[in-house]
Amino acid sequence: MSSQALKIDGLKTYFYTENGVVPSVDGVSFHINQGETLGIVGESGSGKSVTSLSVMRLIEKPGKIVEGEIQFGDRSLLQISEAEMRKIRGRDITMIFQEPLTALNPVFTIGHQISEALINHLKMSKAEAKKRTLELLKQVRIARPESVFNSYPHELSGGMRQRAMIAMAISCDPKLLIADEPTTALDVSIQAQVLQIMKDIVRERGNSILLITHDLGVIAEMADRVVVMYAGQIVEQCDVFTLFKSPKHPYTKGLLKSTPRLDQLTETLESIEGSVPNPLSMPAGCRFHPRCPYAKPICESVSPQLQGDGSIHEIRCLMYDDRYAKEWDEVMV
Ligand code: SF4
Repeated sequence: MSSQALKIDGLKTYFYTENGVVPSVDGVSFHINQGETLGIVGESGSGKSVTSLSVMRLIEKPGKIVEGEIQFGDRSLLQISEAEMRKIRGRDITMIFQEPLTALNPVFTIGHQISEALINHLKMSKAEAKKRTLELLKQVRIARPESVFNSYPHELSGGMRQRAMIAMAISCDPKLLIADEPTTALDVSIQAQVLQIMKDIVRERGNSILLITHDLGVIAEMADRVVVMYAGQIVEQCDVFTLFKSPKHPYTKGLLKSTPRLDQLTETLESIEGSVPNPLSMPAGCRFHPRCPYAKPICESVSPQLQGDGSIHEIRCLMYDDRYAKEWDEVMV
């Protein structure tokens, strides 16, 4: 069995707003094996980005990690000092964002920014750092690395900036790469190129990736396993083939029905009715019940637990809980 790069157990990250407490991440547990890409999928407000920011310990007030454990290799990220965490960020765990301009500093050249990471984290000399930066730019398929080295972020196209950010993110050969909607801002052909670059990197270097996206197409392309989040909780967790071939949770089924597929001729796409609940007043019972086409009265009062053994296929739905499954005896799903 592969060893785990990251293990999250019972993570709760809440935001204490003037209007009340928002349980953005509410008891989330999963792991990522070494060399594995784990996708987290869900609509906005599902808690997927807050989960990744919690791993980086970048939750700002009024947010707070209130419970849980985040194990990275042999280190417990919620127990170490901020100084130790700073060393891990940018070296052992790095991030690729949707908008590279949030990660790249507009007043420094691309070359300067990537070299700085190498000098600071890996103690390279300036000349070594420049040589390595040019290699990294080539690795992310930038055709004129010398010219991009001397360019400022605003002088590059969106796709080039995204490649430069990937080069920066992999510069110190991190054990874990967190990619939050890495291709959402790019047009389709550039998206495919950037995804291919990320796939090649994992194959060559064996990094683990935590991929956050609302796009099931990106999941199909990249992920080995998938976590589906809804209203701060995991509702389904399985390998990527199972997710597309035999999804079980009504929310996952809804997401799939609302996504175009290349292997099926679909005239109209269905959307999931309703919208994500107000996080200040989550529905009682199953949080998905107001939108669920299979809901029964019991779903309004009983909160489903994640069913499964933690490694194969887990589902948070009363239909799959032996204690309540008889309520659905007449429905085949
Ligand atoms: Fe739907 Fe009920 Fe299952 Fe929730 S518990 S997903 S409401 S069937």
